[in-house]
Amino acid sequence: MKVAIRGSGVAASAAARLLARENIETVLLPAPRAKTPVVMLSDPARALLCDVFADPALFADRARIDRRIVAWGGGEPVTLPHGAVILAESDLDTLRPPSATSDGADADIIIHAAAPFPASEVQRFAARHAEAVEVALRFREDHSACWIEAVADGWLFLIPVDSERAWLLCVGGAAERLMDQSRHVTARVDPIGPASAQFDVSPRLLSSLQGPGWLACGTAAIAFDPICGDGTAQALREAILASAVIAAMAQGGDAQALRLHHESMLIAAMRRHLKLCADFYRSGGQGPWWQAQLAALAEGFDWCTSLLATRPEPRYQLRDFHLIEREAAA
Ligand SMILES: Cc1cc2nc3c(=O)[nH]c(=O)nc-3n(C[C@H](O)[C@H](O)[C@H](O)COP(=O)(O)OP(=O)(O)OC[C@H]3O[C@@H](n4cnc5c(N)ncnc54)[C@H](O)[C@@H]3O)c2cc1C
Repeated sequence: MKVAIRGSGVAASAAARLLARENIETVLLPAPRAKTPVVMLSDPARALLCDVFADPALFADRARIDRRIVAWGGGEPVTLPHGAVILAESDLDTLRPPSATSDGADADIIIHAAAPFPASEVQRFAARHAEAVEVALRFREDHSACWIEAVADGWLFLIPVDSERAWLLCVGGAAERLMDQSRHVTARVDPIGPASAQFDVSPRLLSSLQGPGWLACGTAAIAFDPICGDGTAQALREAILASAVIAAMAQGGDAQALRLHHESMLIAAMRRHLKLCADFYRSGGQGPWWQAQLAALAEGFDWCTSLLATRPEPRYQLRDFHLIEREAAA
């Protein structure tokens, strides 16, 4: 079997790595992608990355975050322990295997980890946008903390880059307006650059995540709300699932059932994510912006529930990066 993988992010790199481990031939087809200014990777997410890339020390020496300071629902800031590393875009680039010289036209199956997808209709579970602003940190102690603050019309997420600089993600609309509403974070930073263009941070997924000869994975196919700080880990989990599905096909498994399993597991992951998001958005604020987010999340949860009700019970289970039939697992 030969697999083409379209994409240049962590999902594509992870899928290439996992399929190579199964001795499945892959062709990596790069696709343009927006650069992420900084990535905070929690310790469990880094552990997953280490497993996938078979390197226990991967990024272990990067700058660490040791606490999360949360000012939510109008309350005073609460400090919680948190373990994470700070990665630069160039760190993630090192994970990418060399690109192919062929166009992959002879591949038996394609993993699409970047747009455009064979099916382009997207199901959005809110209409949330964000802007990111590069800022200077006023207080040295903030270089090892991340801040999260709920404001009237959204929330702010401060991720340090080093002892002097950070990125402020402003979710809910224009950075300037949200920063004006802040009681805590804005007082700790000085903007040093213009706000980025607005980008979509709604939880969303493609209406079709598979078809004959293709699977979709990665953030461009199914995107989580940044409130869970789980974008990279989720992209990795999707790559693990896609690779396991393809490895099972290569061993003669039922291709259609395996593709459907891939899709159902991604919809189920979105459903769990929407429930988790609702817990955060329920307690962030009481105003119309917060109420609208909560209503959209509830609608999305119901949409996923009704879709899953039409699907058969999961036939496979993931174990150590491999899919096994549930009967065999029992
Ligand atoms: C500003 C920003 C900050 C982030 N911070 C974190 C973080 O701290 N921790 C974490 O785990 N994840 C973070 N993410 C999410 C993370 O970058 C993606 O989930 C991950 O890169 C997905 O990998 P991939 O291989 O699926 O796709 P990639 O090829 O990396 O990207 C896929 C899609 O992500 C979107 N995207 C990525 N970067 C940008 C950007 N700068 N502007 C607009 N859209 C973009 C685009 O839709 C793109 O097509 C952040 C994303 C953004 C945009």
